[in-house]
Amino acid sequence: MAVRPYIVGNWKMHGTRAMLSEARAIDRAAERLMKVEVALAPPFTLIHATRKEAGLIGVGSQDCHAAEGGAHTGDISAAMLKDSGAGFVIVGHSERRADHGEKDADVRAKAESVLAVGMSVIVCVGETEEQRDAGKAESVVARQLKGSLPAGDGAAEKLTVAYEPVWAIGTGRTPTVDDVSAMHRSIRQVLVDLFGDEAGAKVRILYGGSVKAENAAELLAADDVGGALVGGASLTAEAFLGIIAVAAEMQEN
Ligand code: PEP
Repeated sequence: MAVRPYIVGNWKMHGTRAMLSEARAIDRAAERLMKVEVALAPPFTLIHATRKEAGLIGVGSQDCHAAEGGAHTGDISAAMLKDSGAGFVIVGHSERRADHGEKDADVRAKAESVLAVGMSVIVCVGETEEQRDAGKAESVVARQLKGSLPAGDGAAEKLTVAYEPVWAIGTGRTPTVDDVSAMHRSIRQVLVDLFGDEAGAKVRILYGGSVKAENAAELLAADDVGGALVGGASLTAEAFLGIIAVAAEMQEN
């Protein structure tokens, strides 16, 4: 596992101000768990309040529009997110790809817009169950990476990749540790091919898909797993802190 694992909670379309108490509790505990980098991506409406309530953890967004501004009713630009306190943006989540028809080129444009305003970006990739069963998981993910990752000088510096098999998200199912290791090794090779040995080696690769305290140790111990992107188990401080505690304990051993 990475020197300092990165554990990111994705609240999806959950949370009103009543849920800020969970963010506060996570933040207070994060103070005691400095061995782990912790972040939350609440819905747009809670970014500003979460940033104010939780001063230690990272706070980010689950999506953004690729344009700087303009006639895009209901959308939010990277600069607006930065202004409301976000430090990073997740792009290309499979739910965005499925619900909003986002293609690799859209994801890349969003990622580049995030980097352009100086924030970090987490780019999500992952295969469907059908693709895995057909033996195409690694080629599908490699194609997504080549199409979705931001290009240009320094792009790798503020980049994190999240490998999230679509069939593992919110299902309680996870790939085997060997499958996670093989995929993360394959992703690393693509990163090195795209960004060169040095920059490509530094990009963190998170695993996401039904991570919880009970399975975190084995998933985080897989080859080249630099942390986790967590959905359902990030919605309560109790569940999320369970995962963070596992990651912290692994740093001590
Ligand atoms: C996610 O949506 O990014 C995710 C990994 O969800 P869950 O942990 O609920 O599978």
